[in-house]
Amino acid sequence: MIARHVRKLEAYTPGEQPKAKNVVKLNTNENPYPPSPACAKVLKDFDLDRLRRYPDPVFAELRATLAALNGTTPDRVFVGNGSDEILALAARAFVEDGESIGSLDPSYSLYQTLAAIRNVPWRGLETGDERRGGCATPPLAPDVALFLLTNPNAPTGEFREPADVAAFAKAFKGVVLVDEAYADFARANCMALATAPRNRNVLVMRTFSKSYSLAGLRVGYCVGPKPLVDALYKIKDSYNVDAVAQAVALAAAKDQKWMKANVAKVVKTRAWFETELAARGWDVIPSEANFVFAKPPCPQKAAALFAALKAKNVFVRYFKGPKTGDRLRITIGTDAQMKRLLKEIEIG
Ligand code: PMP
Repeated sequence: MIARHVRKLEAYTPGEQPKAKNVVKLNTNENPYPPSPACAKVLKDFDLDRLRRYPDPVFAELRATLAALNGTTPDRVFVGNGSDEILALAARAFVEDGESIGSLDPSYSLYQTLAAIRNVPWRGLETGDERRGGCATPPLAPDVALFLLTNPNAPTGEFREPADVAAFAKAFKGVVLVDEAYADFARANCMALATAPRNRNVLVMRTFSKSYSLAGLRVGYCVGPKPLVDALYKIKDSYNVDAVAQAVALAAAKDQKWMKANVAKVVKTRAWFETELAARGWDVIPSEANFVFAKPPCPQKAAALFAALKAKNVFVRYFKGPKTGDRLRITIGTDAQMKRLLKEIEIG
């Protein structure tokens, strides 16, 4: 009764959402600061009659605002129920049976699950070159039709120069979806590649979950060439972004000042925290995201440290495996949260 590839499938495991109150939650890259007060106002004043009706299926107002924000036209913007939905749609829209999906390795582990759900192979590209500052056009299997390029990368936090991404996309015959979930925390981004008139194969994706502090709302979007964006519209659910989400995301998008102030706080804490970890003998990959991927002085103990911190109600993320198992991914929270973490590490 259940399709063979679904029977075999190993489901993606999202980071834990603990119920306890006094938890220091640094495991899912949420923003420690609240969303714009304009969002609270929208929720407070929300006319319930709008819930009686279906939402705008093409989110015209939100789309127009996002287009203006990114210097493009609304017909080049697509909005999803979180950027995760856009990734799932891309796997269906841009990949044929017999082709494959590629991404950096390590990268966001959901990509592998999406390939398995689509019933096509996933091909990982080593990120070693990146660290040496190089990049560009690594040998990719010829069947890769969609490449999900995370920038800054997760869980490493490494940043790839837009010029390198452009070179990669130029040499690649398929669709490159640049997953910029963390780009607001980085020194630059690839949006200009997506909006360029001659662009044929680059989509740049953003989310409201991190820099806008709205992970619970579920809104993400992407920008790119009209034919690719049209393909996503063709296959989406009719009402994929609900009325409340459209209204709240619109308010957040219009309050850039609030978002940027929160990002500045996180970036400042990140710099301080990286130094603190390094002073304690940790190997920290310089991060351009709202998390760090760091190796404790005793790397074989990363898993044990993760468990010890959890027992003290400090939640970070651990990814087992040869490429990631010697490090912890730690979300940047408030200064107070990071101090508590440092204290627990020392006692532990
Ligand atoms: N891309 C990356 C690289 C992420 O880390 C995440 C968050 N887990 C997402 C996409 C999904 O974000 P959203 O909340 O918009 O679905």
